[in-house]
Order: sequence, then C-alpha cells, then structure tokens
Amino acid sequence: MKQLALIGSGFGGLAAAIRLQARGFQVTIFEKRTMVGGRASQIKKEGYTFDTGPSLITAPFLIKEVFLSAGRRLEDYLDLIPLDPFYRIYFHDGSHLDYSGDSEKMKAEMARFDPDDAKQYDRFFAGIQPIYDSVITEGLGAKPFLRWQTMARFAPKAIALGGFRPVYSYVKRYFKDERHRFAFSFHPLFVGGSPFRTPSIYAMIPSLERNAGVWFARGGTYSLVKAFERLFLELGGTIRTDAEVQEIIVRDGQATGIVVNGEAIPVDGVVSNGDVPWVYKHLIKPAHRRRWNDKAIDKLKISMSCFLMYIGTRRQYPNLLHHTLILSRRYRELVKDIFDRHILPDDFSMYLHVPTRTDASMAPAGCESMYVLVPVPHLGGGIDWKTKTPMYARKILDFLEHDFGMEGLQENIDVLEFFTPEDFGTRLNAHLGSAFSIEPRLTQSAYFRPHNRSEDIKRLYFVGAGTHPGAGIPGVLLSAAATESCVLEDLGAGTPRSTSQLQTATA
Ligand SMILES: Cc1cc2nc3c(=O)[nH]c(=O)nc-3n(C[C@H](O)[C@H](O)[C@H](O)COP(=O)(O)OP(=O)(O)OC[C@H]3O[C@@H](n4cnc5c(N)ncnc54)[C@H](O)[C@@H]3O)c2cc1C
Repeated sequence: MKQLALIGSGFGGLAAAIRLQARGFQVTIFEKRTMVGGRASQIKKEGYTFDTGPSLITAPFLIKEVFLSAGRRLEDYLDLIPLDPFYRIYFHDGSHLDYSGDSEKMKAEMARFDPDDAKQYDRFFAGIQPIYDSVITEGLGAKPFLRWQTMARFAPKAIALGGFRPVYSYVKRYFKDERHRFAFSFHPLFVGGSPFRTPSIYAMIPSLERNAGVWFARGGTYSLVKAFERLFLELGGTIRTDAEVQEIIVRDGQATGIVVNGEAIPVDGVVSNGDVPWVYKHLIKPAHRRRWNDKAIDKLKISMSCFLMYIGTRRQYPNLLHHTLILSRRYRELVKDIFDRHILPDDFSMYLHVPTRTDASMAPAGCESMYVLVPVPHLGGGIDWKTKTPMYARKILDFLEHDFGMEGLQENIDVLEFFTPEDFGTRLNAHLGSAFSIEPRLTQSAYFRPHNRSEDIKRLYFVGAGTHPGAGIPGVLLSAAATESCVLEDLGAGTPRSTSQLQTATA
C-alpha cells in the first residue's frame, strides 16, 4: 500500500484522511497537539463542555458524503439536531431579528422593519440560486482549480450574475433597511472575509443554510471530530498526536518524506492540513519554492483573527439563543478597523455560542456553557495579547452585563478561559495568528488561491482553509474531495476497496 503522511487533523485533514484511507492508501495523521480537531477542539472543565471553534454545522450532506466515501452512514456515528431559528441578531438600537430558514417566518420578521424588504426576500434567493447551483449542485467547490481555464469557464456566468461584486453591494440592491443588509451580508465573516470585498459568490451561504439547515451535533461539534476520528481508525488509519512535523523532505522536486520529532519518515506523498502560508514558510526549504517563495507569501492578504472567551456560568440567560449576534452601531468602519487598519476598535460586534440552549449536558444542571467570539485583527497589527487580554476581557464582560443586560454575569462565572490570536499562532501554527487563513477575496479565490496540488512540489497536496475553496466546515470538506482527486490522479487509486470490504474492516 502507498504510504501517505497527513500533517494536521482539522476537519479538512480528517476528511481527506478518511477518503484516502478508504481508497486503499495507508494514511498516517501527524498532529502537533494532544487532541485531534485543530480549530474544532474541546475544553472540558468543572462539568462544563465548550467547543473551541466551529459551532454552526451547515451542509450536513457534505458530512454524509465523507461517511459515504467509506461506505458508512453518518446516522450510525452522530446525532445532528436542527436549529430553528438559526440565529438571533441583536442590533445596537435594541431591536432583534430571529433569522431562520423558513421563508414565511422570515418575511414576517422582516416586515416588522420594512415590508418592502420582506417582499424582496424571494427575489434575493432566486438571484443567488444559480451561483449555489454552480458551487454546490454542479460541484465546483469540490473541483481543484488547477488551471486558469476552469476559472475562465465559470467566470462569464459569475460576472453575469454579479457574483464578483462584494457581498454587501450585492445584498444592498435588494434590501433597504440596514439591519436586513447586515443579516444577508455578514456571512463572509464566518469564513474570514470582509463583506465589503468578498465576492458575492459567498452570498450563497444564506442559500446553503436555507436549503440544508443549520445543525448542532449532540454533545457539541467535537462529537463530529470524534466521529471522523473513529471512522478513520476503523478503516485502519493511524493517528500520531503530539507529533509536530518539522520539515517536508523534498528530493528532485518531489515530497519524499517528513521529519517528526527529529525522525525522518519516508512516504509516497504528503498531504498538508497545516495553514498553507505557514507550511510553505516553515516546513519547506526556500530552494524548493518558486511560486510560493517568502515574498509571495508575505504579499498574501490574511484573514482576521478572533478573541475567544469560554464562559461557564451558574446562571442561565434565556434571551441568548443557541447562536446570537450582538452588533455594534458601526459595520463598515468596524470591519475596516479589523481587516485593513489592524487596530483593536473601542466598540465591538460579537457572536455568542450557547449550546446549553439545545443540549443541557454541556453544563451542570441549571448552568450555562457559552463562548464569546469577538473578531479582531491578525497579529500583523502588533497587538500584544499577553498584556491586552485581561483588560479586553473585562471590557467585554462589562458590556455584556451592564449594557446588554446579562444581570449578575461576572459574579456567577465558574469557568473562564481565553484563546487569543497569539494562541492561533503558537498552538495551531496559524500564519499571523489568523483564525481563517488566507482571506477570501477575488484575487485569492479558486485558481488564485494556493492549489490543492502544490504548484512547487510534486506529490505535495493541501487540504483545509488555506486552499480551494476555503474556510468553514463545508469549505474544508469540499477541499478534501478536491485534494483526494489530485492524489488519485497522481498516485493511482491505491488498492480500491469495495463497500463490503470497507464494512467488514470494522468487524
Ligand atoms: C472561533 C472559530 C469559529 C468558527 N465557527 C465556524 C462555524 O460555526 N461553522 C463553520 O463551518 N466554520 C467555522 N469556523 C471555521 C472552521 O472552523 C475552520 O475553517 C475549519 O475548522 C478549519 O479546518 P482545517 O481543515 O483548515 O484545519 P485546522 O482546524 O486549521 O487544523 C489544522 C491542524 O494542523 C495542525 N498542524 C499545524 N502545523 C502542524 C505541524 N507542523 N505538524 C503537525 N500538525 C500541525 C494544527 O495543530 C491543527 O490541528 C470557525 C473557526 C473559528 C476559529
């Protein structure tokens, strides 16, 4: 069997590992951290359970596909619970919108702010449907954009639909009320993009949510990580944790092995799920990199980071739904502070994840498990998080308690943990401590994004947020399919196994 080294165990890495192991390769995952999952890790403390990163599960059909690629059924591994509404969005004036996938409920919600906007709801979704069809139904998201011709074929359709305009200006054409413009344009922020320049191909995320729902994995997103891990191990894959890869060995322009804890391990191919800019810069000697030399990497625009607080409280806050957004008065200027000026603004918008609203087992009885996510600049702004963290955390807690009205919040805290941009850098090897890798802008999308098959080194492949199509669980699962196709094209299909063989492998 051909041996593959897979560097990193984020969702993209796990999905690629499953797909390739199921195709008959012998895959070993090397993960730097003690736990698998990458950004989707878990903290358990004093009876509270926190997902550290992704909390919204969209496009469950893409998760099903990973199980199907190995002849299994998602239902045998995981319990997915649909959420309704998807989010509650609190605006700075105290009003709120419950955002759901139900057209009639949404129109009724929107009519409270502007009846004309409510009438535009169907038109908005009809307008975006062709993009959705291209990326999801026709599978462009799962195709590696290795040749500019692939891009050229898609471009006329995207241009005709306005798909290259920024998401915000696309949405603005449909809705007048600023609150609706926010509600349908903020989604790029979920994948590290600015709504004011991410191409409106990403305006199809609301369609993805509406068509396939927003879900929660019982026990938290980490249940999905454990399900993938279990499936991979059942297929005969190997996982080595606390195993940081220090180098990708390149001979005659081809990846031939890796160095882990000082040990050189020869392999037939390397798939990297580590952050692409970081991996090129730190794991591959400059002599082997023509396209992705240090200069090219330094020119990349890197997405924002996040300041995260994991909070366990003895008191519950029912005005918070499972997913809640609390917004500042500023939108465009706040995004500019974070993405372009790289400064920590005085105001903030935030996202709160409160899984106890759906699954009481995430906290002791009567208590609340939540995390607060505040988008902040990446480390290029020079913010020193070691000194900044206590002050910034206090500011956020004061805001939530005194301005937003979470009475008694601070005196009821049992558990308080942080994850800062510096942690993204040191714990996850994220270039500039970014939460979402390379920013999804037009000049860094599809063909212009680092390819799933390395442009510089044969038998080196990338999977995850920094390659095509991009960040987010759906994005990195699609990237696993794209990367699998590159590996199969280059290295052959290993020893393909039939579904029955795959099923008996568990016995
Ligand atoms: C706070 C937060 C909230 C999010 N919320 C959502 C959400 O609700 N829904 C959604 O769909 N998406 C969400 N996302 C985005 C989504 O989580 C990520 O895009 C996705 O999980 C990234 O997966 P990945 O495959 O790129 O791998 P990553 O999760 O980035 O994992 C990469 C792995 O590689 C390992 N590694 C790096 N270097 C080495 C090395 N040298 N040797 C060995 N191992 C190495 C790292 O330790 C890590 O485990 C969120 C992201 C964040 C940060």
